Amino acid sequence: MDRSEVIQAVVENQVEFIELQFTDIFGIMKSVSIPSEELGKALSGEIMFDGSAIDGFVRIEESDMYLRPDLDTFLILPWAEYPKEARLICDIVDSEGNDFSGCPRNTLKRVIRESADKGYTLQVGPECEFFMFHTTDNGEPSRITHDRASYFDMAPQDLGGNARKDIVRTLKDMGFSVEASHHENAPGQHEIDFRYSDALNAADSIMTFKMVVRLIAKRHGLHATFMPKPSFGVSGSGMHLNLSLSSEDGTNLFFDGSDALKMSKLAYSFMAGLLTHAREYTAVTNPTVNSYKRLVSGYEAPALISWSSRNRSPLIRVPSIIRDSTRIELRSPDSSANPYTAIAAVLAAGMDGVLNDLDPGAPLNSNLYDLSQKEIDEKGIRRLPYNLYEAVNCLNESALMKDTLGDHIFEKLTEACMKEWDNYSSQITAWEIERYLQRF
Ligand code: GLU
Ligand code: MG
Ligand code: MG
Repeated sequence: MDRSEVIQAVVENQVEFIELQFTDIFGIMKSVSIPSEELGKALSGEIMFDGSAIDGFVRIEESDMYLRPDLDTFLILPWAEYPKEARLICDIVDSEGNDFSGCPRNTLKRVIRESADKGYTLQVGPECEFFMFHTTDNGEPSRITHDRASYFDMAPQDLGGNARKDIVRTLKDMGFSVEASHHENAPGQHEIDFRYSDALNAADSIMTFKMVVRLIAKRHGLHATFMPKPSFGVSGSGMHLNLSLSSEDGTNLFFDGSDALKMSKLAYSFMAGLLTHAREYTAVTNPTVNSYKRLVSGYEAPALISWSSRNRSPLIRVPSIIRDSTRIELRSPDSSANPYTAIAAVLAAGMDGVLNDLDPGAPLNSNLYDLSQKEIDEKGIRRLPYNLYEAVNCLNESALMKDTLGDHIFEKLTEACMKEWDNYSSQITAWEIERYLQRF
């Protein structure tokens, strides 16, 4: 869309307010609402905000920031019937008119440009899982679900089904191509998959998706959460990323019909980059203490760094394909990640594999959950960081990630994750009380 088309859409649809949205370093969506009379000013990038008020942005002395709307993200919000509202996703510009290096969307755009210069465009198909829980009488979220359903179950077992269909309907009204939606493995757990797209669009869509899911669930009296592992003993929620590289004309460069898995040499080396740098980017794709409660054996989430074309226990799965839709599925990310920095980190890791012609080694097709520690050691399989502390240390030592995220985001993120870890480590948990209070 261009400027005049956006203005025309606002006038024709009698839009009264426009939400100018952006995402902070920690993946939280922020928004400023402007009346439509201010649209001209917004489109000229003249809407200012106080950057020092946003976590991880800037100090008070350098706080003036400007929003630069991306016209292609213009959307009328279908749930706001009166007054009518639209949204524009924005990049952040500093007071000198430069791209602000603490803006995750700017960062992703830079990394996308770097790989485009080499002739590659990343395509991303996200699979976001989430739980829908009941709320208490005073509106607080609980972890109660009256649903006993499991993978692919249908109504009447699947009580969240109506909410899920309403979410899908809303997403479609907003132009999403929803490919599938289903009940996931755990009670109250759901998944909605939308069609793959270029990396920037995918990151924008993940942010929009999370907002829509929470909002529509709320309308059904449910609390939707993307927390990676809300309950012990059942599956957690992942944000699998299906990845492939295409050329500028859209040809899938991961496809090679002559290979047993229909994978090109490029696909193998990209995958090798993801495996090699896995320990370095995990704090970016899994930035919370809770993320690591999901990355354990037994719940279809990865704990070990390996790949396979058969099962769901390794870090990377190569899905069986029809026609030329070759892609690899990175299974570690979760939705507590900032999708812009997570996708930037993953793209940089894969591209490093391509540039250095890395080899992913042989697949491990057995169920990795059955391996003993001794077998893991004998096979030389590395594991993902065990907790946030280990992950941040791996991130801290990564020159590739520092380069990819830029100094500003790299420093703010490592600092915040370490603080989060310190805070968590000093807590006395219910588990400890139950285990030790009587025993000692
Ligand atoms: N919920 C699983 C996870 O934590 C994934 C299940 C699936 O393969 O879709 O990643
Ligand atoms: Mg799933
Ligand atoms: Mg999947």
